[in-house]
Amino acid sequence: MQPATPSARLVEVFSSIQGEGVLAGRRQVFVRTYGCNLRCTYCDSPETLRETPSPAFCRVETQSGSGRFCTIPNPVSLHTLTHTVQSFLHEPHHSLSLTGGEPLLQARFWQCWLPQTAGWNLPVFLETNGMLPAHLQMVLPYISLVSMDYKAPSATGMPYEKSRDLQREFLQVASARQVYMKLVVTPHTSMEELDCAVQLLNEVYPIPALILQPVTPCGYETEPVQAQKLFAMHAHASRALPDVRIIPQLHKAMHLL
Ligand code: SF4
Repeated sequence: MQPATPSARLVEVFSSIQGEGVLAGRRQVFVRTYGCNLRCTYCDSPETLRETPSPAFCRVETQSGSGRFCTIPNPVSLHTLTHTVQSFLHEPHHSLSLTGGEPLLQARFWQCWLPQTAGWNLPVFLETNGMLPAHLQMVLPYISLVSMDYKAPSATGMPYEKSRDLQREFLQVASARQVYMKLVVTPHTSMEELDCAVQLLNEVYPIPALILQPVTPCGYETEPVQAQKLFAMHAHASRALPDVRIIPQLHKAMHLL
């Protein structure tokens, strides 16, 4: 029996600027998936979480920055996603962003779909929580750049050692491609958590950049992080790593998707 053709549960497809990390300011087409295996205190995409009913439709912004949408039914087929993403490509884009939720939960779909995008000359950028190394291995041949979050146990509630070991394994796999690590800094992020991120990065070569992203108050995180704390963390990490940057969420400042 032939396996069923895969389809994806998506929340939205749109074109905007990347607002985080080393590609901040780059124009991208974003495919945001439904579903996540974590529950971070600062989650700014609650519509992707499983507590929210799986959406019957995926919204597609009809014109970038307009806030106007049409919809396509979920789950989305390979052909429909190809057609939808192509509808944005009449304007120049730097790359295609797979984001979520946790896009790697739908790794089998990407395995089938990403080879179909090979002719677009559009590098694939993966935004991930860095907890599913086996899933990453499945799609790695198609990925150009991995944005891996360091998930601080103070934000996820995961046991420290389990979290560290999974993220170590993930980073080892990701280091076969370009990769950087992003740490969302909240008022609760500790120096011990920063040290863990630094230690993981120092275990791979070349040592990836570390982006310290001040939390945008959201979800259970109602307070911003103090600038002094950010500078202290930047100084601490910079003593051990070659490239540490503080980059806030640019798209939020511009009120973009
Ligand atoms: S990994 Fe991302 S999408 Fe999932 S709960 Fe955390 S912030 Fe939200």
